[in-house]
Amino acid sequence: MADNPEPSGPEQIQAALTGGVPLGRWKEGLMFDGINPTPGLKSASNWFPRSEAVGSDEMRITFMGSAPFIRPGQMNTSILIELGNGDKLVFDIGEGSVANYVSAGHALNELDKIFITHLHVDHYGALPYLYMFGGWAGRWHKKLRVFGPSGRTPEFGTAHMVEGMKQMLTWHRDAFSVFPVGQGHDVDVTEFDFRDNGGVIYDENGVKVIHWQRSHAKDGASAYRLEWNGLSVVWTGDGRPSLLDAEFAAGADVYITEVQPELVAISSGVQGVPPFLGRYTIDTHHTPGYAAGYLAKRANPRLFMTTHMPFDPYINEETVAEVRQHWKGPFHFGAPDGIVVNVTKEDIWVREGVLPDFPNSRAPQFDFDDGQLVVPEPPTSRAEIQEPFVREQEIPPADYYPEGYHPELLQEWPVDGDLVIPLEMMPPQMLQGMGAAWTERQAYKKHISELSADE
Ligand SMILES: [Zn+2]
Ligand SMILES: [Zn+2]
Repeated sequence: MADNPEPSGPEQIQAALTGGVPLGRWKEGLMFDGINPTPGLKSASNWFPRSEAVGSDEMRITFMGSAPFIRPGQMNTSILIELGNGDKLVFDIGEGSVANYVSAGHALNELDKIFITHLHVDHYGALPYLYMFGGWAGRWHKKLRVFGPSGRTPEFGTAHMVEGMKQMLTWHRDAFSVFPVGQGHDVDVTEFDFRDNGGVIYDENGVKVIHWQRSHAKDGASAYRLEWNGLSVVWTGDGRPSLLDAEFAAGADVYITEVQPELVAISSGVQGVPPFLGRYTIDTHHTPGYAAGYLAKRANPRLFMTTHMPFDPYINEETVAEVRQHWKGPFHFGAPDGIVVNVTKEDIWVREGVLPDFPNSRAPQFDFDDGQLVVPEPPTSRAEIQEPFVREQEIPPADYYPEGYHPELLQEWPVDGDLVIPLEMMPPQMLQGMGAAWTERQAYKKHISELSADE
């Protein structure tokens, strides 16, 4: 080859690079029209935990659970919405989803705002775990907040479920009271009137969440729409397609619905569910694929997604075919687990997250606005909740520790009252780990104040 070949003509270059579309990219397909990577992605092909901050004008949606039937690769439904202002909001918290939150690099004490669409256990099964272990793992200075619908009578409401959960956890709560607790065992329940369609249930820090009723065989099933910074996302929870969905999901940037394809006979062969039971379940509870596409057409989002679906090839292809009867715009599955969606006003991009099987958990995250870390004194002690006999049967440590190695055991709370550590006395590594989210939020606040100073 010559050292400096002649450049091709500008028109030829244009044609080669854009497929002939003037100033555009290749124009093709139905699924991804209007879909581009957002700025700040480290890789446009995959998402890797702890590799990217959410941009200050960006929203990131991650599917932490995507199926009503739990199985490896598909935990029960849960959707995390992270905002550029540092907020993290959890929509449904199905069984097993905590594994994906940990794998995606979230500390359990950061997950303190949980919105539950309805009280089928595939939508909140991980709540008891998150409540207890999130409290243990540093949710000492804020209550766990749970938002959910009322029922037709009080015993069918979210507050009653939480009371029942606490009761179920009576032993566990007392047992974990030998650890720092603070507010870790408190739950702040916002139970809204399920009939109050369009009602605002959350309005903080520029984030607004409204709800509406879903027809899901029993009163109390709800859908949510979150609005922040001119961006919106809808998660319907479960239910039959309804006029309310078309109304409240209209114009959303991302519209996520549950779906059931019309495959009862095939599914019955594959899964062993008698066809009539599948048919009856769909027709009383769920959104058929055709209806999902129909609703998308009416709501006209920038990106339409289906989740709460078994991610199986024979189902996926049929689901697309059914959705495509009505919806010709951008479409992607919110399944399997680990699908990540970045959203800005200009761009939307979907990636598969690479979630490790054996992740280490993120350090608990704290706000260090007061310049210190306060570790609350445990409410109780072993001596208070355990009879001495079984402690006295413990083998003396000197019998099993090797010669020359005998750690100083820490069996009593080491200080009078709370343990208070000023930041300047904290080992830098510890501060870096536990203050990562706080540092990001400080940067966001700085960014916002700079923006307003520019105006
Ligand atoms: Zn469900
Ligand atoms: Zn349900």
